[in-house]
Amino acid sequence: MQKRWITAVIFCLAVILILAAHLCGRTMAMPAFTFAEEKEVYLTFDDGPSTKVTGSILDTLQEKHVKATFFIVGERVSGREEVLRRIVAEGHTVGVHSETHRYDLIYSSDEAFREDVTACAGVIERCTGVFPHVYRFPGGGRHPSKEAILKELGYEIVWWNAVCGDEEIPNADAETLVTTALSTAANRAHVVLLLHDSASHMATAEALPAIIDHFLENHYTFKTF
Ligand SMILES: [Zn+2]
Repeated sequence: MQKRWITAVIFCLAVILILAAHLCGRTMAMPAFTFAEEKEVYLTFDDGPSTKVTGSILDTLQEKHVKATFFIVGERVSGREEVLRRIVAEGHTVGVHSETHRYDLIYSSDEAFREDVTACAGVIERCTGVFPHVYRFPGGGRHPSKEAILKELGYEIVWWNAVCGDEEIPNADAETLVTTALSTAANRAHVVLLLHDSASHMATAEALPAIIDHFLENHYTFKTF
């Protein structure tokens, strides 16, 4: 009888010890998870597609195993359908950046804006079968009534917090673009970098490998919208 009682006590102690070890393990594991700060970077390309520049950028992204987001100008897709399909086929995100990129048309009225967004989304959907869910304003900035329309249409609006300077600095070479990207991204944990892939931006394509290497070396995770 006494032997059975001792066995029961030993069994109970063992259960308590196992539970305690399990709970301690969980408690000890939590701080590392809670305090780990994940650094993330979103590469975003506006104004494409173009044939050579977008193609070169896609080659680099493929080589480096990195995904990006491309904000498309609808009327530039004609004749470059294969480029747009390649963007989607290689796992990148495609968003709307207007049909015409003409500020005087796009922003002339809420109705014109809605038509422009719908036209660009239609081009993307007919070409790739994918319906876009992200939007970037041509020229950036805030547009309250247009933001309400985009929300109603189900779009997430994407701005940026770092630039490579390919629009801001006239005729910038690749080295300047790398330096500008790194200095405007600074040490932010969350970077949305603005780049351009229209035909005049070969320097951006040339700068891209070094920009990607910088973020890889600094342990950033590449994300898409
Ligand atoms: Zn643009």
